[in-house]
Parts: sequence; C-alpha cells; structure tokens
Amino acid sequence: MSEIPLKEHIAPSGETMTVRDLASCPPPERWHDWMEYDAQAWPRKVERHYEIIPTICFNCEAACGLLAYVDKDNGRVKKLEGNPYHPGSRGRNCAKGPATINQVNDPERILYPLKRAGKRGEGKWERTTWDEVLDTFAAKIRAAIVEGRRDEVMYHVGRPGHDGYMERVLGAWGVDGHNSHTNVCSSSARFGYHIWCGMDRPSPDHANARFILLISSHLETGHYFNPQAQRIIEGKMKGAKLAVMDPRLSNTASMADYWLPTWPGSETAVLLAMARVILAEGLYNREFVRRWVNWQEFLAAEHPQEPQTFEHFIEALLDLYAQYTPAFAAQESGLAAEGIVDIARQIGHAGSAFAAHTWRAATAGNLGGWQVSRALWFLSVLTGSIGTPGGTAPNAWNKFVPAPFLKPSPGEVWNELLFPPEYPLANYEMSILLPYFLREGRGKLAAYFTRVYNPVWTNPDGTAWIEMLTNEQQIELHAALTPVWSETAWYADYVLPMGVASERHDLMSQETHAARWIGFRQPVLRVYQERHGHPVQYTYEANPGEVWEEDEFWIELSWRIDPDGSLGIRKYFESPYHPGEKLSILEYYRWIFENSVPGLPEAAAKERLTPLEYMQKYGAFEVAQEQAPVFQLHERALKPADLEQAQVDEQNGLVKRNGAAIGVLIDGKAYEGFPTPSRKLEFYSATLKDWGWPEYSVPGVTTSHVHPSHIDHTRGEYLLIPTFRLPTLIHTRSGNAKWLYEISNANPVWIHPVDAERIGVQTGDLLRVTTEIGHYVNRAWVTEGIRPGIVACSHHFGRWRLETSSGVDRWASALVELKRAEDGAWRMRHREGVLPFESDDPDSARIFWREGGVHQNLTFPVHPDPISGMHCWHQKVTVTPAREGDRYGDVFVDTTRAYEVYQKWLAMTRPQPERADGLRRPLWMIRPYRPATSAFKR
Ligand code: SF4
Repeated sequence: MSEIPLKEHIAPSGETMTVRDLASCPPPERWHDWMEYDAQAWPRKVERHYEIIPTICFNCEAACGLLAYVDKDNGRVKKLEGNPYHPGSRGRNCAKGPATINQVNDPERILYPLKRAGKRGEGKWERTTWDEVLDTFAAKIRAAIVEGRRDEVMYHVGRPGHDGYMERVLGAWGVDGHNSHTNVCSSSARFGYHIWCGMDRPSPDHANARFILLISSHLETGHYFNPQAQRIIEGKMKGAKLAVMDPRLSNTASMADYWLPTWPGSETAVLLAMARVILAEGLYNREFVRRWVNWQEFLAAEHPQEPQTFEHFIEALLDLYAQYTPAFAAQESGLAAEGIVDIARQIGHAGSAFAAHTWRAATAGNLGGWQVSRALWFLSVLTGSIGTPGGTAPNAWNKFVPAPFLKPSPGEVWNELLFPPEYPLANYEMSILLPYFLREGRGKLAAYFTRVYNPVWTNPDGTAWIEMLTNEQQIELHAALTPVWSETAWYADYVLPMGVASERHDLMSQETHAARWIGFRQPVLRVYQERHGHPVQYTYEANPGEVWEEDEFWIELSWRIDPDGSLGIRKYFESPYHPGEKLSILEYYRWIFENSVPGLPEAAAKERLTPLEYMQKYGAFEVAQEQAPVFQLHERALKPADLEQAQVDEQNGLVKRNGAAIGVLIDGKAYEGFPTPSRKLEFYSATLKDWGWPEYSVPGVTTSHVHPSHIDHTRGEYLLIPTFRLPTLIHTRSGNAKWLYEISNANPVWIHPVDAERIGVQTGDLLRVTTEIGHYVNRAWVTEGIRPGIVACSHHFGRWRLETSSGVDRWASALVELKRAEDGAWRMRHREGVLPFESDDPDSARIFWREGGVHQNLTFPVHPDPISGMHCWHQKVTVTPAREGDRYGDVFVDTTRAYEVYQKWLAMTRPQPERADGLRRPLWMIRPYRPATSAFKR
C-alpha cells in the first residue's frame, strides 16, 4: 500500500499518521466495493462484498468516526469499525464504538412506536403509528402555545448528539423548554471555567504538552474518552509527564507518572497550594498574568487603599494564599507535601505547555466542586497556558458549530422550572429538582419529552421521578424518545424508538484536540438505498422496523403544530431551496455544508462532489486553521471596522459599542479578549460578589459536604464515590450491547483491605451501604486500588425491569419487585437476576453473568450545589456487613427523608429577588437555550 499522508485527504492539521499506519483500513477509493473473506466460511475462501458508509458513534459525546460495512448481499450492516478520516478519533474507537452493531441487532430493541394501553407504569403497550403520535403531540403543544402556556412544553435531554438542532426547534416554537441532564454531570466543572473565561469547558492540547494534570479518568472513561486518551499517550511518548488526581486507582491513574489519591474535596486545597508554590518561586508567566488577568479590578474592589500595581497584586496573592501551604494541602488531602511541591514546580516549568483537564470526578462529587475547576484553571492562567500549543484552550476555540439557515429570534419566556429564583447562577437547568418543583405546585407540564434520558435510573432519588411521571396532573403527556428500553420509558405514555449511531442524522463537533472539525452522523441504510436508486422519504423507511430519527420527527411535528404557518413556526421548517415546501433533512444539512463550513465546498469541488456528497462520503471535515484558528484567540486585535463607533471606557479599558463590550484595551491596543464582563480572565468575580457570594469572589476552598471532619470512621462512616464510569459502558444505552455486558457486568463496592478487615468482610461478601435516605445491598470487592476510609461503586449497573420479558433489555437487567408503602417508603428486591433467554440471537441463550449490579442512585437524595446547581454526588454512608434477611440488590428509600434533604440543601441558596437591575440572572452568563434579554428581567 502506498504511503499517502492522511492530511492529503482531509486533515490539514499536519498530524503525522499515514495510510501505512492504518493498513487495516480500506482506502476511500474502494469504499464502494470492499471485499473481505467470510471468516465463518474458513477454510473456504468465500468473498463478501461491502459498501462502506461513514457515520458517527452515538455511545458517548466524543463523536468518534465509524465506518459501517453494509453487506451487498443482504443490505444489512455487518460491522462498524473506526474511520481514519475522522480528525478527532483518527480510526480508533473504544469498545463502545464497534459494539454499536449489538445495538442495531439487539433482539430486545423497540422497533415501532408504542402507546400505553393501561395506567402509566402498568407495562401494557400497544403499537401505534407515527401519524397518531405526531397529531397527539401537535395538538397538545399548539394549545399550550396558543393559550400562552409556553413554559408547559419541555424537552429533557440526556444525550443530545447534535450541536444546536433542538435549540433551533424550541426557539422556533417560542418555548423556554430546554432541559438537560447537565446538573448530574458537569454543571459544576463548567461553572468553574465559565466564571473565569465565559466559556465552560476545557480543551487540552495533550499531544503537545510537557506536563498533563488530570482530575478525572480521561484515558479510561472521561471526556473526551478515546480522542483525548490517544493524545495523552502521544504526549507521554514525546516526553510529557502525567499526573492523575483520583482517590481510586483508575486505569488512567495506573498509566500515570504520579498518582495523587487525594481525599475527595481536598483537590482545591492542593491546587491552590501548587499555585502558591508557582507564585512564591516566580514560576508564573508574568506578562500573561499582567496583561490578561483582571487584577486591576481586584485591587480596586478589595484593596482600594493600597498600591494599584501589578507587583502589589502578586504580593496580595501571596498574602491571600498564605494559608495554602504544602503542609496544609498535605493534611487535607493525604498526599505528601514534597510531592505537591514537586508537581507544582514541574507545572511551572512546563509553562505554556501545561495541559489540564477536570470533568465529573471531584467537580461532580463535592459541594463547591466548581472551585476545583476554578483552581485548576488558575494554574493554567499562572503558567500562561491558555489556548497555547500544549496548553488548555476554552472549548469554544476548538469546536466548530456551523450555523443553520434562518435562526429563530430568542423567545420572551423565562421558565422558572428550569432556572428558579433560588439558583440565579446555575450553570445549566436545575434538572434534578423538577419532581420537587412540580410537587410544590410551581407549575405543570402539558407535553414532556425525554430524549435519550433515563432520570428514574440515572438521577438521584429516582423514586421521586417515578412519582412525578405517574402523576397525570403534573405531567399531562410524556413521550420517551429512546433507542433502547429504559426505566423511565416504562412510565411514559408513548415510547418512540429512535435510531442508534448508524440510523440517524446529526452534526457534531467536539473539543477533542487543538483543531476544529465537524462529524456527520448518518443513517447508513438510507444512504445505501438512495445510492442504489431507492428514494427514501423518511428515515424510518430504511431503518429496522419503524425506528426513526429525531431530526425528521421535529420537522414533522413542527408542521403539524403550525400547519398554515399562522403561528410563525412553519417557516423555520420550510425548504431553503423550495420556498413553501417542507424542509427535508438532507436539505437542512446540505444548506449548512454549502454555506457555513469554510473550505468544505472547495474540498468537495476538488473531488467533483457537492459538499453534502463529500460529507456523506467521508463523514467528517476539519476546518483549516487559517479559516478557523484555534490558538490564543483572545489576542485577536479588534478590526478597524469593529472600532468604528466604539468607545473606550477610560477606567477599565473596555471597548464598547452600543453599550456592549466588544473588547479590551491592553497596553494601548484593542483586543477581542474573553466573553466576560471585563473581557479578561476573571480571577476576581464581581458577579459572584454582586449575586450574593462575596466570600467566593476569588478562587478559594469550599468545605465539601464529605470533608473528613464530617465523617466519623469510628462509627463505621465512609465516603462513598458513586460516580466512576467503566470504560466499556455508557449509561442507559449500553444495556443493549451484549459484548459490553460480557466484558463488565457487576458493580461491587470497592473497599480497602484495612477497612474490609475492620468490618470483617471479604471479596464477594454482601455489604449494606446506608445513605441519608435509605440503603442498598451489594457485594464487596477488596482492593488496594482505593484509599482507606473511602468506598466506591460504579454507577453503570443495577438496571431493572418489572416484567419478565419486557422493559429494560434482558442482557442487562434484573427482574425486580418495586413497591411503595403507605408511608412513602419504597422497597426494591430482585426476583431473579440476569438469565439466559431465547431469541433470534443465539448469544442470548449463552449469558453467563447473573446478578446484574445494584441500583445505588435510588438511595441518594438530591444535593444541589447552591451556586452551580450541580448535584453533589459523593455520599457519607455507613458500611456494614449485610444484615439477616438482606439480599443482593435490595434497595430501600425513605421519600419523606429525601424531601427533607432537598429542603435542607435548598435552604443553602441565596435568592436575589429584589435586585435594582431587575435581573433574574447575569446577562453575560450562558444558557443552553438563551431567551431574549427581556426575559432575563423579572
Ligand atoms: S470514545 Fe468510544 S463511545 Fe465515545 S464516541 Fe468514541 S468510540 Fe464512541
């Protein structure tokens, strides 16, 4: 095979992989007819011919490229492998990518739209038609819109899998109805980044780093799992050192040069101690900090009587962080003080090539978890490694979201079920509190969509979700849009089957590395049929059964909500090529590829393809850095045209036009800066001060709810880490991937040998883990891979179903009995574990795993952080040997107590109802669906 640099095909970033590196991958010239011998026919040489069609994995948010091999003999997808022409994943996938084929062929999958035939949750279903579904929801939504109940339509998403499509739909409808899963996932980490720089995710350039610090399990399971993992290893192979802060010896920590098993919640103290070393030893990037940190604002606000000089700012910092000595951090974290100093120095010496990332982990576990990402970004700021080669950029600099045609104007409605007055700064919607808000009579929902979202199983206090979903006064109509059965779908009115990775259109971009790219997910059998002369109107005609895709569903629904266009909705779903006609999904993407992706039309023309054909052929495109630069974008000078009619605020250097800041003057030159109020990096946050949290105006420590002072080991108390992922599983969607369950199929409680001995248990023994609101019974796994005093349990398992042969997939779920007592207590007991079953797939009769895991999240109350809104997952628990009568999988939940814990955490908030500016939320802070400025006012 010739050694053609990959970049000649699609990757202008100059990465060094060649086709020889990818010798097992067919070259695109042969994707229309690729021959492989049939392995099952061996030793005979039987040829099989495939057409290879790219798509994008849908099993985590990393959006890796996949190639679907469509068997030309039967028109079915045979397998899915990596797409080397995808700039993020470069042909590599984790186990979950190829396992997509299990999801396609799962004998348990939902193939037709279903409507409930009994009471909600009773488990009686009948097949219905897409027409009936569309008409029912269109009537309900239209009535809500016409009657001015625009806060009664809610779309609640777990895995979006797209960039901005739904925000456009909801904007067109004029409803403030976007809800997400983000406050069980990342809103705290996001808040820490956002308060610094106005963008809420990090994008490390691991491949070019000299030192990498991870507070998560990135190699193994974090964002962005496979694309970042391969670049971390690349960086290491070039000499970078890797440190991993994680109390659990994850696969990632096992690959690190330094494993830092901090006590959860102490990470911020360690990071601030490192910052202090860097400051005290003069290892910081003086020019970067002087130019880009809002130190003048800090001194003016907090030290107005002192010299307003940069030198004095550094003195003030040393003073401010004097208490964060290595010895103090060592005491808080359990690490060695010398190790903290050593790593701080290495970070300082790495300078602009210091890459850092935190996601979930400490940020998702602790009260004040956002202080962890804030302190980590502080290190990036001090080293001047913001957006540098080998450094860490804000996500928006390494992501490309092309604009669609005709953007709806922002709506005028503010939905307090999403952003209630108690949480004006919440980074994302207060999703986990929806059941309590509805119970308190704060509103109701006329139409509720859950999309690839399973709150009954995923969220804390899942029984509160069952109670909400079965209450027809609170939720009038509920559709679960899902590729797989889930505990939540069981309580819906309609279960609407949506496609897996090879059965749907989506456009995605992720901040996987220092580049910008788009990836095109497509229904490969539809593409195959269309290429072979069989026109397809709706994707469900080509997919298995009548499995559809959301994109087309929303277009159809929008037309039925506004059939004559009088509500002003229909126009957003009319073809940009054939005015007045219904938009087809291919026209939607065709317009984007033709008009919004720099360089794509030219690249396509070189191959005599249209931009759409190019994307259908390769499945991904990297935008050249000349057209979409990725490094140090804050340094972009404002253009003369920008400066026309702009004014400079003498006091703070802000360059404003029409009252809005568009840049900042630094050393006499006007730069774009960051999207913050100061246009600089906000070490000092006037926002936090003005909105009721003056003690947090600068990076500092928030004492976690699981701080050691709250945990008494002598009484059998432990800290439970319930957040960690396994590399082979997703949340709900891996329930129908048999290979993945064959690899991992239990979630025992990790416990250190010292603790195991103390309570007298061995690996395999049953434990009772008691939380604030209940308990669960699970097996012990005794391991030195966890710190003493801490136990850990992966959240991936414990799937359950209520009927023998329907509900959650039998590959993954136990059959349980779930009962609510008069006093509101819920009890779950396994009736039988995972058992072999007969189906079209002979493997289902070969299932060897039995117990299926324990659903621990049911026993957790909500812990909403009063600032970021994030659910703080870590739990104080007692761990004892199981009691007499306890059985594996038992769960008990006291809902009265759960409501009390919610109220306790709600009381920690500081609502700001009487603000002079009348705002509900700072105008500069982002919202996933952003209504009009007028809606921000009460
Ligand atoms: S990391 Fe794995 S699950 Fe995530 S997109 Fe890539 S292949 Fe799919």
